[in-house]
Amino acid sequence: MRVLLALIATVLSLTSPAMSQTHSDVPAPNAQPWDRAFLPPAPQWDGASRALLRPASDPWVTAFEADPEHDFSPTYADTRAWFDRLDAASDLIRIEQFGISPEGRPIYAVIASKDGATLDPSKPVLLAQAGIHPGEIDGKDAGMMLLRDIAFYGKDSLLDRVNLILIPILSVDGHERASPYSRPNQRGPRIQGWRNTGTNQNLNRDFMKLDQPEMQALMRLIVKYDPTLYVDIHVTDGIDYQYDVTYGFNGENGAYSRSPAISAWLNDTLKPAMNDALEGQGHIPGELVFAIDDRDPKAGMNDGGLGERFSNGFGSAAHIPTILIENHSLKPHEQRVLGTYVFLEQALVQLANHGTDLDTAIAADRALRPAQIPANFDGDTQPTSTRAFKGILYETYESRASGRSELRWLGRPDPDLWQVPFYGSHPTLTLDRPVAYWVPGYRTDIIERLRLHGVTMETLDAPRTVSVEMLRLDDPKLAATTNEGHVAVAVTKVTPQTRDWTYHPGSARVPTDQPLGNLVVLLLEPQSNESFAAWGMFPEVLNRVEYIEGYAIAPLAEAMMAADPALKAAFESRLATDPAFAANAEARLGWFYERTPFYDDRYRLYPIGREIAP
Ligand SMILES: [Zn+2]
Repeated sequence: MRVLLALIATVLSLTSPAMSQTHSDVPAPNAQPWDRAFLPPAPQWDGASRALLRPASDPWVTAFEADPEHDFSPTYADTRAWFDRLDAASDLIRIEQFGISPEGRPIYAVIASKDGATLDPSKPVLLAQAGIHPGEIDGKDAGMMLLRDIAFYGKDSLLDRVNLILIPILSVDGHERASPYSRPNQRGPRIQGWRNTGTNQNLNRDFMKLDQPEMQALMRLIVKYDPTLYVDIHVTDGIDYQYDVTYGFNGENGAYSRSPAISAWLNDTLKPAMNDALEGQGHIPGELVFAIDDRDPKAGMNDGGLGERFSNGFGSAAHIPTILIENHSLKPHEQRVLGTYVFLEQALVQLANHGTDLDTAIAADRALRPAQIPANFDGDTQPTSTRAFKGILYETYESRASGRSELRWLGRPDPDLWQVPFYGSHPTLTLDRPVAYWVPGYRTDIIERLRLHGVTMETLDAPRTVSVEMLRLDDPKLAATTNEGHVAVAVTKVTPQTRDWTYHPGSARVPTDQPLGNLVVLLLEPQSNESFAAWGMFPEVLNRVEYIEGYAIAPLAEAMMAADPALKAAFESRLATDPAFAANAEARLGWFYERTPFYDDRYRLYPIGREIAP
């Protein structure tokens, strides 16, 4: 369906001059079938937060507010021009450029503070990020309103005890690939940016590997300001429900967070106050959930599991309190933006009132050094609980298009609360924490990415030979398709071996006794599905080098059998039990070659050593 719609959109943009690619051109009204009439209706909404909207006559009205339907979000250039004007007019606001996109656009943050040029490190910092997926841009329009109200309309006291950093648009290139056809499942704004970057990358899969300039810049900003709370603002896809603002951290109530103290604060302190604030303004807050089956919404929900490539998974591993907001795609842009405003304002209030407790929680989690680290989470097959759920009524009908029964959302709240099974996640791998890792100096790319994360390390300026445990990758499996510009390599079996290895100048010893130690383990253990190796970044070790001619190995094999009766017995047993092997001359000779010292002993040997406690 997505492909078909994309095709229609492409054809249309080629044939119709009315379909401009810029935000400022509003497409001509039309009765085309792709004008969103196919979307289910949204329940009527008239929340108290509408009072936050300022009239078009206001000198500081935002483009979103000025639009009669509140269904518009300004271009990159118009957004920047508006913030530049705000910056010039208010001492509380300044703009900080922190990166450049692949297409050359500055990436900037808007900082709201009473501290002047240097932020007081004792104050909590809220980092609010919009537009990592540019079609899901609610945070930009909400942030503009909130900063304006802080600057001019009596909300400056929010900054008495907290600083605010807003990234209005992170994926700036994707934001400018704008059209009415970017988000088929989403109700506004009427012109939307594109999910991926100009280089077709999904930035919300790049929190660990840090391939992209946007994410490298973001990580520098995060390390520089060390946010007390990081809020990553999105819009959902998937099923309909009554909730307009859903948000989550990790797992059901943070059940399997890697930051238990932070999770407790988010769950026990922030969440009740946040839900009260949202409900008080007419919103319907809910937990971040994903349907097990979009065509059978009562079958159950899960929380999407724990993946460190995503913002909230990364935040949990890095001990940065991180909330993923997913506003509901079928609610109007206006309702979603206003809910986001209430969320951000309340987050500032909570940091002002309880930021010290959160600081204490962060410190506790950053002191954790678990000996074992769960990894590679998978969805449970059995529900862990049943949850009350505010559903939307639906029916099914026979579709001539699909030839099967399809679901039709009716846009009316179900008066009966649903009780739906809830599925959690569980780790399928446990990683042992070594004392340190040794990264060879020639992998400057790996060392640089660790540094970008803020990982501390010792860099060698002279060769050093150390005893390390090295891992042989026994069963590397290359993925059949590419993913984010990589060919993933899954490794389920490794054989450790202790070796003396010489690390050359520029090599790095990376201790795990640091706050980011868990993150280091997840990045550097090749079996971790969030590791650099899992993204296929060590393909060079998968090639075997050198070989032995048949005329050399055949007589050598005879000699080996003569010298070693056990080896001879093992060979004969293999012949007896494996007819395919017995019939394959090359495999038989290879069996002996692998058992000679001529065999390439670095084949599939992962080059990052593990330093084990003596
Ligand atoms: Zn998103």
